[in-house]
Amino acid sequence: MSGASVKVAVRVRPFNSRETSKESKCIIQMQGNSTSIINPKNPKEAPKSFSFDYSYWSHTSPEDPCFASQNRVYNDIGKEMLLHAFEGYNVCIFAYGQTGAGKSYTMMGKQEESQAGIIPQVKNKTQIFCSLLLLVSYMEIYCERVRDLLNPKNKGNLRVREHPLLGPYVEDLSKLAVTSYTDIADLMDAGNKARTVAATNMNETSSRSHAVFTIVFTQKKHDNETNLSTEKVSKISLVDLAGSERADSTGAKGTRLKEGANINKSLTTLGKVISALAEVSKKKKKTDFIPYRDSVLTWLLRENLGGNSRTAMVAALSPADINYDETLSTLRYADRAK
Ligand code: ADP
Repeated sequence: MSGASVKVAVRVRPFNSRETSKESKCIIQMQGNSTSIINPKNPKEAPKSFSFDYSYWSHTSPEDPCFASQNRVYNDIGKEMLLHAFEGYNVCIFAYGQTGAGKSYTMMGKQEESQAGIIPQVKNKTQIFCSLLLLVSYMEIYCERVRDLLNPKNKGNLRVREHPLLGPYVEDLSKLAVTSYTDIADLMDAGNKARTVAATNMNETSSRSHAVFTIVFTQKKHDNETNLSTEKVSKISLVDLAGSERADSTGAKGTRLKEGANINKSLTTLGKVISALAEVSKKKKKTDFIPYRDSVLTWLLRENLGGNSRTAMVAALSPADINYDETLSTLRYADRAK
């Protein structure tokens, strides 16, 4: 992705049982980097086409060039981000999309090794390379408030502050030094259980919060000739975003509707920030206004998004005709991020 600051992939999951039982048709076509969507309400309409850095799906066979295993997604996206972080920069990977479209599967995956998502794979590799100190934190942003997922006893909301040199941060957020993969896996399991989930008409475990997993690592070098020590600190943020479905399509009322508005605010702001950054990188301008402050999510990720940082987004999609509206809106969101 030389030059560009944002790398965008779309990933279509296999049909789920609900879609299969409704005999849903696949409305996505893929060829090379291009992804098209057919309007099932008007099949004669020309398919809408988009091109991304990567277009993946999972319901064909491994011989299909667009077929993507977890390992392929890691090799294409995670690895490059990790190498960039080892050079001393900050990186950020987002998963965006409708609830049930495959965000958590992409970021976390499942227990079996072949199904491990980007986060466990990044963690694994970071341990191998990391020379000295590895700190992890895991937080949830729900309705513009921050909770510590590594310290669920701390039920209160944490304050977001700004350090004059290091930028925005969360006060009192646990940062745990980790030494083994099992350490982190156990912490993450506990953290995931603590995530705010609430039932909506759409999906029993619909996730209404953004989960931000951060790895900060410090590499130290000592030059024996000059007797000088240098330190490189890099931050990797891996973000499983809340479901992007519009509040009105899930029968939301009251609190749910308010949640929806907050989620949309963060996602809209994130979209604006990423596309503003993409513009800046294309025009090679440095002075454009980037609206980081408009949501807690973008404010806290400021140091991971601009400047020399690299950002990748995986937009998760359902293949099914019954999700046409949401899938099209996800494709448009991903398209604006390029
Ligand atoms: P989200 O986080 O977007 O709400 P999930 O990641 O939980 O969605 O995915 C919903 C279901 O689909 C899960 O059971 C998950 O294992 C499965 N799934 C998602 N993406 C894939 C994929 N690429 N290959 C196989 N199964 C997938």
